[in-house]
Amino acid sequence: MPKEKPELSDAMRAKMSRKTPEKNPIKGTKFTIAVSSAKGGVGKSTFATNLALALKKVGCKVGLLDADIYGPSIPKMMGINEKPKSDGQKLEPVIKYGIQCMSIGFLTDQQTPMIWRGPMVTSAIKTFTQKVNWSGLDFIIVDLPPGTGDTQLTFSQEIKIDGAIIISTPQEVALLDVIRGIKMFDKLGVKILGLVDNMSFFTGDDGKKYKIFGEGGVKKTAEEFQKEFLGEIPINSEIGRYGDEGKPIVESDDNHEISKIYLNFANNIKLTYL
Ligand code: ADP
Repeated sequence: MPKEKPELSDAMRAKMSRKTPEKNPIKGTKFTIAVSSAKGGVGKSTFATNLALALKKVGCKVGLLDADIYGPSIPKMMGINEKPKSDGQKLEPVIKYGIQCMSIGFLTDQQTPMIWRGPMVTSAIKTFTQKVNWSGLDFIIVDLPPGTGDTQLTFSQEIKIDGAIIISTPQEVALLDVIRGIKMFDKLGVKILGLVDNMSFFTGDDGKKYKIFGEGGVKKTAEEFQKEFLGEIPINSEIGRYGDEGKPIVESDDNHEISKIYLNFANNIKLTYL
């Protein structure tokens, strides 16, 4: 009599049908949130930094990982000049304003350009995700570089990202890149938490709102691709000033109207995950 084939459990069947390798969660954190923009200069690092600080203000333990290897902004924005300590095996994150931080900018001279090929960037990302002593965190906020290149691929394919937020300004050219960003995350199976419209308007001395970069495009793009629209952040010169001083607006003045927007984002993320 031929032996009967054993029944496969659902879990086993799922495992066998899985084509992509298991993604590694970053150790030391419960959740990893990527902040991304398809275009440079739209306020992605400003968003990542202030969101991290806002999450801390609403009671979460937070890490901030600057994955922008070619253009690290976190050292300047967080006012960090020290080098991380190492025991020869692992790097200790630098703690500033209660946030555990890591950036390639801590390890290099700020004015030295990183002239690296893709595999070196990939290896730096792996070091930052696997060889940093992140500890006891609720969230790591990852400041991804702009675009759809090696870093995004490494992160999305090998590291477990629990959600991605896409930042854009309302111009048509920025929106085209947003669509590319949405398609990349969808293709790589990364959940998009939603889109943020940064620098959406400017309030003049006359109290009127001036939509100098156009209107409603980010929201429309979100709707078109069935993604959540998370909200708008107006143009406010104090955002840049506090960032340049190395003490972001949420840390400097948590009563500021802009800080309240970030605190609202943070509360929503906290409610979604914790
Ligand atoms: P990215 O990370 O996308 O390259 P940054 O976060 O470095 O962009 O921001 C680019 C510049 O725009 C910085 O000088 C920053 O202070 C400024 N900025 C960002 N968001 C705003 C805003 N809502 N209002 C005014 N300036 C902003």
